[in-house]
Amino acid sequence: MLILLDVIGRAVVILAAAVILLMMFALFSCVIVLRYNRALFPDFSLFVLNIFHEPVKRLFALIGYDSEIVDRVSVELANKANMRDFMSVPVSERMLILPQCLRSVHCPAKLDAENGIICAGCGRCDIAKIIAICRKLHIEVYISPGGTFTKRIIMRRKKAVVGVACYPNLYEGAMYVKIAGIPAQGVPLKSAGCVGTHVECDEILKLLVMRR
Ligand code: SF4
Repeated sequence: MLILLDVIGRAVVILAAAVILLMMFALFSCVIVLRYNRALFPDFSLFVLNIFHEPVKRLFALIGYDSEIVDRVSVELANKANMRDFMSVPVSERMLILPQCLRSVHCPAKLDAENGIICAGCGRCDIAKIIAICRKLHIEVYISPGGTFTKRIIMRRKKAVVGVACYPNLYEGAMYVKIAGIPAQGVPLKSAGCVGTHVECDEILKLLVMRR
């Protein structure tokens, strides 16, 4: 009995030490990405950060930082980890998904159940310009009315995808495409919120045409 308790005790200590080490590694990964915009072993860092996503977020909040930093780091790690696979997909087989919040508040676009929001090209926001450029590159563009549509269109088209969203939504999307095995890149909104948001158009277009 005493031997069994000793074994259990040692196992608990080893497990606790492993958890602490991995937590420290997750924090270290955050610092490296935020401070140097680099990622050491992005796949492994992302794996560890996924395991400790909520505890690390709470830790950041506890020391007075915006916990969204953890979503940002996770998205940047996912982008780095997926870049090679993404670039191996021909440009015309890539797809762009934009969030509906990029639209003007006076947007006249209509919602289509199959294809999402259909831009009327009024020019009140940057979406019309982005669509026009993508059309020349034979890249499909969807304006998503929400997460359910985004998941459905990703699974329907199964193409390499560039997604635009706020960091929490990009993180959720990055986890979804990883499970689905679809190479993706996330572009964060420059101004977040639920209406009249903005994104760096050049950043999207640069990614869409990026090759090895
Ligand atoms: S350009 Fe398209 S998406 Fe933007 S406000 Fe006009 S119709 Fe809506």
